[in-house]
Amino acid sequence: MTDYRRLRVALLGAGAVGSQVASLLLKHGDELADRAGASLELAGIAVRDLDAPRDVELPRELFTTDAESLITGADIVIELMGGIEPARSHILLGLGSGADVVTANKALLATHGPEVFEAADRVGASVYYEAAAAGAIPIIRPLRDSLAGDRVVRIMGIVNGTTNYILDRMDSEGADFADVLADAQRLGYAEADPTADVEGYDAAQKAAILASLAFHTAVPLDAVHREGITSITAAMIEEAAAAGFVIKLLAVCERLSGDDSESISVRVYPALVPRSHPLASVHGANNAVFVEAEAAGSLMFYGAGAGGVQTASAVLGDVVSAARRHIAGGVGVGESTRANLPIVSIGHVTTRYQITLEVADEPGVLATIAGILSDGGVSVATLVQTVAQTEEGATAHLIIGTHRAPDSALSAAVDRLADSGVVERVVSVLRVEGE
Ligand code: NAP
Repeated sequence: MTDYRRLRVALLGAGAVGSQVASLLLKHGDELADRAGASLELAGIAVRDLDAPRDVELPRELFTTDAESLITGADIVIELMGGIEPARSHILLGLGSGADVVTANKALLATHGPEVFEAADRVGASVYYEAAAAGAIPIIRPLRDSLAGDRVVRIMGIVNGTTNYILDRMDSEGADFADVLADAQRLGYAEADPTADVEGYDAAQKAAILASLAFHTAVPLDAVHREGITSITAAMIEEAAAAGFVIKLLAVCERLSGDDSESISVRVYPALVPRSHPLASVHGANNAVFVEAEAAGSLMFYGAGAGGVQTASAVLGDVVSAARRHIAGGVGVGESTRANLPIVSIGHVTTRYQITLEVADEPGVLATIAGILSDGGVSVATLVQTVAQTEEGATAHLIIGTHRAPDSALSAAVDRLADSGVVERVVSVLRVEGE
């Protein structure tokens, strides 16, 4: 066996991902050493509870509750604890003690990314986070390295498996949101408290990470527009299907070009995606990231966006990279945020919309609605009307497809429609992406 230099690896956390990382590191140590050019010694695993059950069997003597001592003697720190503290302090301690850091912590990077990257820059170390945006799917390295010579125009990502699972089952079974969510919780696809997933918080963190990389601009989490999927109904899914669309929760990161300036938009919302688009065929809890770049054209990255062992694959890839860098020496490559593009609010974003209204089936109603939209700068592309006879009289159901319009104009026009006296109910307003 080659006599490699030994690197000490500190693992923080042995939960769903950490336990798998430890197991694979121990099992494939020799192979990883050949790839890394260094022998990777798992020096210890910091946890909260030494007696907690683990997903895989691991040597008990590796476990410790003294994370700090473990970190200060390490060449590579793998942070898989999650949350902000003490993960943040531990990462800063690791960088300060000369270690390279591998983390899958999207919550931390989306909120404290600049602080962590600055700390790495100060000491010439590197932070690797392939698993933080889409689990096992390689997307960080493609954006940071493979596409470094190109200009990314747009990213559309299905980056949350729980919401994709829910929307996909609603689409294939005609089921209601609440029923599928309850089932997803029973099957372990959704947490007991599903807020982070169904309200789009998890996807927003990933969008901030992807946009920062793609546009060389630090994107704070509060600059990401966020809407969840709790208001999506079986009827909306059925209507979307009839019009040739599927509803997906998308993280959209977009470069907007003005006459002589550029800006970016970063947003998460449920959108209508044409059934012919590659993202429409992402089923179940899978994730996919669709990248459009000026020279490369369209690229699609697809696979498991979560799962302990799947995510461990991305983490170990980072560990090998960190080991290679450590052995090669020199200064780590920092984050590129030099473009520093302005981030626009959702009001400036231009898309097509589908507006569904319930209106009284009376003469003049259509003309009033078309007038309100047109006065508000929103032009109608398609209109489908169906009439339902109820005990109170006839109610018309209108599905209006618009041409592209700024979000601010559209929402002001929809407010005016709601107050117009001719609209009984604004059933839904959905944006169209991926045409
Ligand atoms: P997890 O199952 O909750 O495990 C967390 C681990 O960290 C546990 O072993 C826990 O110790 C330890 N820990 C937590 N707080 C600690 C503290 N204060 N001191 C010492 N140890 C502490 O988490 P996970 O699902 O593996 O996720 C880890 C990270 O990967 C998170 O940032 C997550 O966002 C990210 N990630 C996860 C997935 C996934 O599929 N799970 C996918 C992509 C990214 P005890 O076991 O003793 O309680």
